[in-house]
Amino acid sequence: MKLILLGTGGFLPTDSAQTACYFLPEVGVMLDAGSGSFHLPKYLQRPELDIFLSHAHGDHTSGLTYLFASYLKADWLRRGETLGADNIADFVHRANEALPRTRIHADENTLAFVKPIYAYLPYQWHPLQAQEPLPGGGMLTHFLMDGGTIGFRLDWPGHSLAYITDVVARPDSAYIEKIKGVDLLLHDCNGPDHLSDLTDHIGHSHLSAVLQIAASAQVKRLVLIHSSPIEPLDYSADFESARPLFPAAEIGYDGMELDF
Ligand SMILES: [Zn+2]
Repeated sequence: MKLILLGTGGFLPTDSAQTACYFLPEVGVMLDAGSGSFHLPKYLQRPELDIFLSHAHGDHTSGLTYLFASYLKADWLRRGETLGADNIADFVHRANEALPRTRIHADENTLAFVKPIYAYLPYQWHPLQAQEPLPGGGMLTHFLMDGGTIGFRLDWPGHSLAYITDVVARPDSAYIEKIKGVDLLLHDCNGPDHLSDLTDHIGHSHLSAVLQIAASAQVKRLVLIHSSPIEPLDYSADFESARPLFPAAEIGYDGMELDF
């Protein structure tokens, strides 16, 4: 199973990192829809798209505005036709037909904030179910974390993934049990250890705490996401010295492709 990191930044897009968006092309599943969703056209394979939102913040949802143009561009890339006055109406028509096939899944709190903002678009809105079947015999489950964000776990026979964002990683975090043993963990990491007071305060995680979570949950591989656009919070200089806490760790970047 392939996962593409479309946006690995948090808060604000930068030249190097768009905001939160992660895509599984084979099953048409998107985890959060931040500004990174503009990369979708080159990866879109299926006619239907299921988007699961962790919470309502704009860095996780602003990309919902780009889907019409994403569908149009994906269609154009697939067809390889020259675009002109004679066929643009057909492209627009097909993009408009794709919009209502977009299913957005979120908890009631998130739906209450986000749905009114995008009410002008014909998306399908679905309250998150305890078990969400996925193409390929998979299942998505979710859990509420401290701070109010939803964490996700996706399991297929032989492949598993967990997505944890916008949370303070603590040694006793209840979600550790939920992500036990996954093949791939994407986890919020928002700053170096010496700024842990600050990352705690803003509801995010610092480097060594995340590595310790991955070790306690006995995941196979960890990719750090939701980097900060504010330079003092760049933890990359500390990464190699902290890595012995969980050696199978990497820093995620936009465009990274992961097989799990
Ligand atoms: Zn965020």
